[in-house]
Amino acid sequence: MPRPAFRFAPSPNGLLHLGHARSVLLNEALARECGGRLLLRIEDIDRERCRPEFEAALVEDLAWLGLDWERPVRRQSEHFADYESALARLDALGLVYPSFESRGDIRRAVAARPGWPSDPDGAPQFPFPREAMSEDARARRVAAGEPYALRLDMSQAVALTGPLGWQEVEAAGGTAHHIAAEPLAWGDVILARKGVPTAYHLAVVVDDALQGISHVVRGADLKAATSVHRVLQALLGLPAPRYTHHSLLLDGEGRKLSKSIGSQSLAALRAQGVTPDEVRRRALEGLR
Ligand code: GLU
Repeated sequence: MPRPAFRFAPSPNGLLHLGHARSVLLNEALARECGGRLLLRIEDIDRERCRPEFEAALVEDLAWLGLDWERPVRRQSEHFADYESALARLDALGLVYPSFESRGDIRRAVAARPGWPSDPDGAPQFPFPREAMSEDARARRVAAGEPYALRLDMSQAVALTGPLGWQEVEAAGGTAHHIAAEPLAWGDVILARKGVPTAYHLAVVVDDALQGISHVVRGADLKAATSVHRVLQALLGLPAPRYTHHSLLLDGEGRKLSKSIGSQSLAALRAQGVTPDEVRRRALEGLR
């Protein structure tokens, strides 16, 4: 049996906050419990928002917390060829198509259809059926240089995979229980865009497999995405890790901590003289 492997997979698009500390510390604790490995993966496919200085800052934060991880660190921007070949396999199954509708087009289409379903992240499901445009017309628009997003034909994908699920292990430990995947709730998710050979769902699945990750430990905000990840794993013939989706830390107003609302960073806490032990305590307090 290979050693269990865990990973922390931050995006370097801002400074780490206590919520990230919760994730990485839980990964560390669970890895330690079973003699597992701890890996770091830099999820920097979004070249506009990710910056080397944020990567340097997060490495500094993790070291300050007293964490250690295996080298080399996997940086997604250096592995686009891996995502391209996964995408080519999905394409060979006839499951990928280019779409040309802008966010505005989607908004308008959905506004005209009250009750149109949203995906688990709250965005409208893609409202334009694949059959509405011929393959030829799509190919012509790609060849003409139009911007596009490559989407997964989810209903065809699910018809191929059949029902799926995963083993969910509670953050506090205990036995795993089975969760049924509900990928149709996502509709035709984006797998890649013109000029960028992968989006989050595809990269995360390819990398978890390539890095031999046996246990994915991450925030509950990504639990619903696991349904998409299971579909991609099944289509690509990749093993399914076990999953733990831990409770999120909330701010004083009950919102989840996030870079975008300017939640206090670990660097700011450090500058205020908060010790690594205190950060560990605060990050893990009330964990479920
Ligand atoms: N890169 C993602 C984030 O920072 C985490 C991905 C994952 O753990 O699967 O939210």
